[in-house]
Amino acid sequence: MSKTFTILLCSLLLAGCYHSQEADMVVHNAIIHSLDGNGTTYQAMAIRDGRILELGPERQILNRYATDDKFDAAGQVVYPGFIDGHCHFLGYGLNKQKLDLLGTTSWEDVLERTKAFANANPDTEWLIGRGWDQNDWALKEYPNNAALNALFPDRPVLLQRVDGHAAVVNQKALDQVGMDPDKAIEGGLMMKVEGKPTGLLVDNAVSVFQQIFDQADEKTKRSALLRAQEDCFAVGLTMVCDAGLDVGSIELIQKMQAEGALKMRVYAMVADAKEHLDHFAQTGAIEEDRLIVRSVKVYGDGALGSRGALLKAPYSDQHDHYGLQLSSREHFLEIADWCNEHGFQMNTHCIGDSANALLLGVYGEVLKGTNDKRWRIEHAQVLDPKDMALFGKFSIIPSVQPTHATSDGPWAEDRVGPERIQHAYAYDELLKTMGLLALGTDFPVEGIDPLQTFRSAVFRIDADGKPVGGYHPEHALTAAQALNGMTIWNAIASFTENDLGTLEAGKKADFVVLDRDLLKVDLQHAMKVRVKATFVGGEKVF
Ligand SMILES: [Zn+2]
Repeated sequence: MSKTFTILLCSLLLAGCYHSQEADMVVHNAIIHSLDGNGTTYQAMAIRDGRILELGPERQILNRYATDDKFDAAGQVVYPGFIDGHCHFLGYGLNKQKLDLLGTTSWEDVLERTKAFANANPDTEWLIGRGWDQNDWALKEYPNNAALNALFPDRPVLLQRVDGHAAVVNQKALDQVGMDPDKAIEGGLMMKVEGKPTGLLVDNAVSVFQQIFDQADEKTKRSALLRAQEDCFAVGLTMVCDAGLDVGSIELIQKMQAEGALKMRVYAMVADAKEHLDHFAQTGAIEEDRLIVRSVKVYGDGALGSRGALLKAPYSDQHDHYGLQLSSREHFLEIADWCNEHGFQMNTHCIGDSANALLLGVYGEVLKGTNDKRWRIEHAQVLDPKDMALFGKFSIIPSVQPTHATSDGPWAEDRVGPERIQHAYAYDELLKTMGLLALGTDFPVEGIDPLQTFRSAVFRIDADGKPVGGYHPEHALTAAQALNGMTIWNAIASFTENDLGTLEAGKKADFVVLDRDLLKVDLQHAMKVRVKATFVGGEKVF
């Protein structure tokens, strides 16, 4: 035998040798969906230093890798970790510490819960709540603050609508921030009856109270982030794209990740304020293992439920009203130029057809043609079909929340009428423009569960399975599309596709174990799918 041949043979034998390589962990006895675009599945995978070493058949992986940590998936299904493309991670955690008004059935119900919260928290000055939705009440009308003024003459109260775009405040709260009822607020509304404020505020009038929301101290924010993380891991999320954070909150997240307390990956969009942009103009983008900051979140208009969404033609249920534009075109252009100059992605909240047209136009003016800057329109809810092509023309990614479709379904047509509703929540149409969609929930506006995103996208039903047959099922996504939207397309929309979004050798080992296969389930099974385990960087976090 020649010497060269002997060496070659020996090294070949060694490579194939039993337990010849070290792994931190081996996942086996699984149906691992790689989502690599070819429908590839594996039975096992080896992980080291937080990344996937190799995927393959059961015996190949178990024979090749020595490890102290074997995870037997018991024949269950493994998918890449779920990514929420648009949510408010910190906001969700902070909300958990506030008065919860979700599911209230009437204004009287809201008042009862507020009284109970006030009694239980005698030392809290501001009574802040969130979650009411007049569309859920028998009397589907905005409340006024008469009862709040009587109940709380000396304590400021602020109760936000579920979408955060409207709020009812008492007189004490108005006095506290020195709000002048005779002064107009750009991009905001202060409802009045016979010249007197009713305490109902919309969009930028709510933002006047931002300083009150931002008051949370570090201790409060820390516990909020940990609480949010715990809940998110339990539903299979391994990365969240937080749509609008201030510098202080981003730095706290960075600190907690460095300490090891916060393991969640965060794609933080910077809130649109001069001080934050000035900061990042100095420091540049952040690209760390678990934190990425390279985008700005901007508000184009308000929300449809509170009639703040900016429409081209008046609301079908309020004929003199077009909604609200939250900033001037000059401002949008200024931010777009800033983003372009600093290599940041611009992500703008656009719900109404007019807001979508306006921002697509502004983006186009700066981007000029196709590009790889991955600027996004957040929500893209009501589109004029003739603006649809602009997404492709300027390579703009639509970022949508399927649960909005099924939550808004019962009243959305009241707002926009039978014509415009045809191109609302039209995910199939939006998908065609760029070949991908970022899927999210906008939690806490909606629930945090990505499996409900899947059900809303594929079956167009809400958590109660309604409506029967699905809401405008012609706009549904396929199961494969919805899964891509919750994983690899979200990774692309957040510039992390080299590390996340699929299960392939070399990528970070973020994955989720489910008891049923989402690619095979029918409606009945889809209601029953459960997350059994969640891993981030090869570490079991749920
Ligand atoms: Zn949002």
